[in-house]
Amino acid sequence: METLYTSKPSVGMEELKRVQKVFDSNWLGMGDVVRKFEIEVENFLGNGIVIAVNSGTSALHLALESIGIRAGDEVIAPSLTFCASIQVITALGAKPIFCEVNSNNLSVNIEDIKSKINSRTKAIIPVHYCGIACEMDSLIEIKNEFDIHIIEDAAHAFGSKYNGKKIGSFGDICCFSFDPIKNITCGEGGAIVVHDKKLADLIRKKRVLGIDKDGWQRHTENKQGYYDVSTQGFRYHMSNINAAIGLAQLERVESFYKKKIDLVQHYNLRLTKIEYMELLDWNLSETFPFAYVVKVTKGHRDHLMKHLLKNNVQSGLNYIPNHLQSYFKTNVTLPLTEQIFDELITLPLYNDLTINEVEYVIECIESYFNSRTRRASTSFKEEVSNV
Ligand SMILES: *Cc1c(COP(=O)(O)O)cnc(C)c1O
Repeated sequence: METLYTSKPSVGMEELKRVQKVFDSNWLGMGDVVRKFEIEVENFLGNGIVIAVNSGTSALHLALESIGIRAGDEVIAPSLTFCASIQVITALGAKPIFCEVNSNNLSVNIEDIKSKINSRTKAIIPVHYCGIACEMDSLIEIKNEFDIHIIEDAAHAFGSKYNGKKIGSFGDICCFSFDPIKNITCGEGGAIVVHDKKLADLIRKKRVLGIDKDGWQRHTENKQGYYDVSTQGFRYHMSNINAAIGLAQLERVESFYKKKIDLVQHYNLRLTKIEYMELLDWNLSETFPFAYVVKVTKGHRDHLMKHLLKNNVQSGLNYIPNHLQSYFKTNVTLPLTEQIFDELITLPLYNDLTINEVEYVIECIESYFNSRTRRASTSFKEEVSNV
């Protein structure tokens, strides 16, 4: 049995053909292929202005910088997220304020967010964990009541919906990632979706080092080669090569979605019968599943991970809570997040995974619990702690 990885990109001839065309055009950097990708993403979402960038992290950083997050500001984000969601806050000198998540679906906890808002709070970064949408109605209410920006970290949620509307097609500012393992990939890439033309223009300018086209045109009416830098900018634009990969992936997005739903349904159907496994509340009618995360209760998680690895199944931890990371460490405790984290495991889920392979993973899990519970029927607790 070959090792089963937790995630894997699905790229092939369709992507290669489009990349070949970019090579033939000799325009590798940002150009008309990027523009086409932006328009296709806009069409997919049905609403919003899309700005393509070179990663999901750049998208979040650019969004926060463009709305004016600076040193001394506070930004509320869940601790249970990829460290990228937090690094973009500290990169601007702002302070991450960690919030709890709901135990059933790992979405940000609205009550905890509300309790952490004060006059320094400038933005909230809700994370649509595994593609499961956060409570956007409540977040938009908070935005309106306190005049705080909502920057959605939708790195997991390309194609997911909230109350029938695609994530990114409504709201304030939404950031997607198209890194190798996300719902669709550009190789590396990301996008910001906004609904305000002025903000879109500012972000476009900041994406390429703050170079001002209007200023440029003013200067270059009679002279060649001049340009004007009119604001702080970054080198965050997407390349035609990456956009070409993304365009091919967009054509496959419906089949990716169907496949992921099938696989998650199969996991759910089988794992719900195992006493020590607790499923997330997937809301599958609206969720485009990103990763398969499930809870392993009663202290079995780490032992199960070892058992899986022995059987050539890789599993993961999404994520080590950021308030426990040495760089972000504060004296804050998040009891719920810490308790949830101890139970989380990420099992293999990707587009080219087969139902048979999922079945193999489940059989490995069953064999772990069968041997445990048989041997441990007398002193179960000691058995576990002695492994
Ligand atoms: C992947 C990811 C990011 C960052 O996206 P990159 O494209 O890898 O920079 C941010 N937040 C979350 C939750 C992610 O999973």
